[in-house]
Amino acid sequence: MNIGIIGAGAAGLAAAYELGKHGHTAVVYETAPFLGGQASTFDVGGAPLERGYHHLFTSDTDIVDLIHEIGLGHQMKWIESTVGILHKSKIYNFVTPLDLLRFSPLSIIDRFRLGLVTLLLQRNNDWRKLESQTADAWIRKNAGKRVYDVVWGPLLRGKFGEEHYKEVGMPWFWGKIHTRFASRGKGLAKELLGYPIGSFGEVFDVLAERVAEQGSEVHLSTGVKQVIVQNNRAVGLETGPRDGPTPTQEFDAIIATTPSFIFPKLVPSLPDDYLAKLNGVTYMAAVLLILELDRPLTDIYWLNVADRSIPFVGVIEHTNLIPPEHYGGKHIVYLTNYLSENHPLYKMSHEELQAEYIPHLKKINPDFDESWIQNSHYHRVGAAQPIIGTNYSQRIPDHRTPIERLYLANTTQIYPEDRGTNYSVRMGKHVARLLLEDLPDG
Ligand SMILES: Cc1cc2nc3c(=O)[nH]c(=O)nc-3n(C[C@H](O)[C@H](O)[C@H](O)COP(=O)(O)OP(=O)(O)OC[C@H]3O[C@@H](n4cnc5c(N)ncnc54)[C@H](O)[C@@H]3O)c2cc1C
Repeated sequence: MNIGIIGAGAAGLAAAYELGKHGHTAVVYETAPFLGGQASTFDVGGAPLERGYHHLFTSDTDIVDLIHEIGLGHQMKWIESTVGILHKSKIYNFVTPLDLLRFSPLSIIDRFRLGLVTLLLQRNNDWRKLESQTADAWIRKNAGKRVYDVVWGPLLRGKFGEEHYKEVGMPWFWGKIHTRFASRGKGLAKELLGYPIGSFGEVFDVLAERVAEQGSEVHLSTGVKQVIVQNNRAVGLETGPRDGPTPTQEFDAIIATTPSFIFPKLVPSLPDDYLAKLNGVTYMAAVLLILELDRPLTDIYWLNVADRSIPFVGVIEHTNLIPPEHYGGKHIVYLTNYLSENHPLYKMSHEELQAEYIPHLKKINPDFDESWIQNSHYHRVGAAQPIIGTNYSQRIPDHRTPIERLYLANTTQIYPEDRGTNYSVRMGKHVARLLLEDLPDG
């Protein structure tokens, strides 16, 4: 069989590879001129760097297995991370139980309560029982007002904005606690984070090479304009550059990995009930300012900004995980935000955003001076974070769409875990297998 795949991110490439392993071919079309979608890279100091900070947890076994399988296992590095929380211009370490005990913005009783609630969530494997509650209500009720106000409330608001933070279902929060704790050893052990040292870009490059060795093709700068449907069956794709010609190509089946709001534009004949499921999830966009500094800003890799007077939610100092020598001596800092597309910060230009953010860096390091910045980059991702509400298990759009031989695999279908490259790889493989179950003989 020959399968058309829309999108060369983690899900699309993993699906193509899985189909190839079963003796089928695929043609992958990608609008962007590069592989990797949200986990793609660009060049900094002579090395590829992710447009949005990326790391793996030890529980991310699907992508780690894939990295080994395609021959890049030697590139996987596991590194002790440093996580902090910024409260009233002071950085507190926030990894081990000992760090928690030392977290003075909370009373001793609240520190124990925070620790206990975290432990209970980590041990609770039955996320379904939490599904009907929002993260906001659950945390307020179980962790108490002070823990909410100081730690988790600002983070929830930062991640989902004032408009949406109250909608987020509790499984999202449950998933976050589980993945972070799964990456820690027992007792007082620190968190281990993984990074393919040649970058996620190298992983996608080599994966695309393996896909080509299987007889499949990957076409960059070639968007899909329409899925051709005849008698309620997907039979081909119209492709091509934005203003160029639109060749058509026949396929035995199609897998789309586009965000939910793009999918109906490619398939106008989707029935209303499926459309309602697609429209039932909105996305937060991500905006990233990436600074190349001549010295470190902090000694923390992942700094949660629990202070909503600061206009960004996280400071990820990549070179506190991977040494600056890897990037020609540059210290790389991502200032990150999740915003809805009508937020004023989302509409700012690179220069405007930098001017807005820079004064706040002194709250993180009082010595900071603008002259430390050697270069800066700006990046936006439209469909960065789906907002998954309560009781979502009953509302997930099915991978098998109502159009025969047309499959959808996007980040709104990852549940109860939060989206991530690991789950897109898992989903890409899963959807390829679903398709093969449906069409065993082609
Ligand atoms: C700021 C940020 C930080 C993150 N950090 C981490 C992290 O630390 N660890 C982690 O594991 N994950 C992280 N993630 C999440 C991870 O990057 C994504 O979940 C994952 O890459 C999604 O892969 P995907 O293939 O499902 O979707 P995408 O990467 O979105 O791929 C879909 C592809 O489809 C293409 N496309 C869309 N429409 C068309 C069309 N009409 N024709 C052709 N192509 C089309 C797009 O260009 C895109 O390349 C992060 C995400 C962001 C935004």
